[in-house]
Amino acid sequence: MNEQGENILVIGHPEETARYISKIVDDSELFPIHHTVSEIGIRMYINEAKEKGKTVLLEDIVEFRQVVLEILVEEMKKGECRYIAYCGVCPCDGNRFSDGRCRCTRRQIQNYYANLEGLGLDEVFKIVRLSKPDIEYN
Ligand SMILES: [Zn+2]
Repeated sequence: MNEQGENILVIGHPEETARYISKIVDDSELFPIHHTVSEIGIRMYINEAKEKGKTVLLEDIVEFRQVVLEILVEEMKKGECRYIAYCGVCPCDGNRFSDGRCRCTRRQIQNYYANLEGLGLDEVFKIVRLSKPDIEYN
């Protein structure tokens, strides 16, 4: 697989992830799937993306239900389609107080990523961290 075809999970602030994704893939190539998707729905949409030759875009991947993410990983292992996913760095990302500072606790941040644990996402995605939660800088 060449650089262009890699599956990428981007973690960063909303403006950053949008900018990053627009650099690696044209908007018209993307096939967005929303986190409310059902188990049946995700298979359907992935097939549709494959048929159209598009790149699947998983928006706010931390919000997907774990059962749906398990299906996603299974589909990704087939290697028939390209996947790009993103999420924020913490629960308040994109919805900060006016001073722009994060007030999430370490526990809230752990809970935010909890859904992604144990799925082996690091095996199917190249993970690109554009930013870390503020707490990790302290
Ligand atoms: Zn926060």
